[in-house]
Amino acid sequence: MGEKTRPTEKPPLILIDDEPDALETLQDILEASGYEVHSFQSGRQAIEFVSHRTGNLILTDILLQDLNGLKVLQVVREIDPDSAIIMMTGNTSLQMAIDAMNQGAYAYILKPINMEELKVLLKKAVREIRLSFENKKLVDRLQLTNRDMEVSNRRLESLNREMEEILHIVSHDLRSPLINIQGFSTKLAGLTGSVRQKLGDELTKEAETCVGFIQKGVKNMDTLISGLLRLSRIGRKAEAHQNNDLEKMITDIRAVFEFEMKEHSIQFIRKQKFPTIWCRRDEINQVFSNLISNAIRYRSPSRASEIELSFEEAHDAYKFLVKDNGIGIDKKDHERIFKIFERVGDSPVKGEGLGLALVKKIIEQHDGKIWVESFRDRGSTFYFTLPKQRLVS
Ligand code: ADP
Repeated sequence: MGEKTRPTEKPPLILIDDEPDALETLQDILEASGYEVHSFQSGRQAIEFVSHRTGNLILTDILLQDLNGLKVLQVVREIDPDSAIIMMTGNTSLQMAIDAMNQGAYAYILKPINMEELKVLLKKAVREIRLSFENKKLVDRLQLTNRDMEVSNRRLESLNREMEEILHIVSHDLRSPLINIQGFSTKLAGLTGSVRQKLGDELTKEAETCVGFIQKGVKNMDTLISGLLRLSRIGRKAEAHQNNDLEKMITDIRAVFEFEMKEHSIQFIRKQKFPTIWCRRDEINQVFSNLISNAIRYRSPSRASEIELSFEEAHDAYKFLVKDNGIGIDKKDHERIFKIFERVGDSPVKGEGLGLALVKKIIEQHDGKIWVESFRDRGSTFYFTLPKQRLVS
């Protein structure tokens, strides 16, 4: 890569004129004006000098003995498109100067040269070259950052895929030996009666306790593995996105919980008509169902329960909320509850600590976010966003 003419104190200027006196006079004046002047009487030599640098500022006579200014322009523009070339021309070569402008010259200036006019022109050109240099640096940096980001994204995606794969294999493959253990221990439990006489009561009791422990352990492990398997399935064999009328979805979900709500006199509040969104139906159904189910299960024993569903519409996303006035969650647990198998608080309600982990994964797979605002004994509001994506008619 060519050496860049960096913004230094003294801007470099390549001066080309085959008349030695004119060249010397101009050089003196321009050096006195603060330029680092490199002067040449030959177009070829100037091109040779320029070819190792970029962002050159060139002031050239249009009529040169070896190459005319137009040729210098063409060659320099090819090797250094960021250069700024100013043509010095007399009236007789004015047409050439106009041609040069059409071919990308920065400007032309008529001889005899008005030095004030030239200085203004040069100053402007220097500023533009510097600006374009800075711009280029920014673009380079942006491209590098973009490339880094692409690499990181690809690595992340492949890591994610690997993790999903491992999760799936582990949970899938662990289940079959577990089912075997479960089967044999059940058989063993049945046998204890018939071997009672042979072993004697004490030993049989001990054997029964052991089998009981094995069965309890197997049941726990089965719950964990099924949970992992369910989590790993989200997004693996993802159903297709489609238009889904949330109003209908929520009405259907409400019908599923009708009995429980009536039984516990729970008021279900929905003030708005819900929109149609582009999403995976079963997964979003699971999100609303889990959140509503939790709001019912973690209701307060000391006040009438209310569950409210609503949403806000922003430019590019919907924000949904499921609000209850139940037992609430301590601030320190607001993040923990979204982790798999995490249960918090001292509620006697039975559960696996899986629902919110599934909900979080589904929302994230839909490019949304989920969080909770909650106070102990006052209730919880679960928020989640879903980006608005194109609805297909
Ligand atoms: P599970 O309900 O099976 O334990 P979840 O993942 O759905 O699993 O919830 C994790 C924990 O978050 C629950 O154990 C409970 O402590 C808390 N939690 C979830 N929803 C609510 C809610 N609406 N009100 C109070 N606590 C909640």
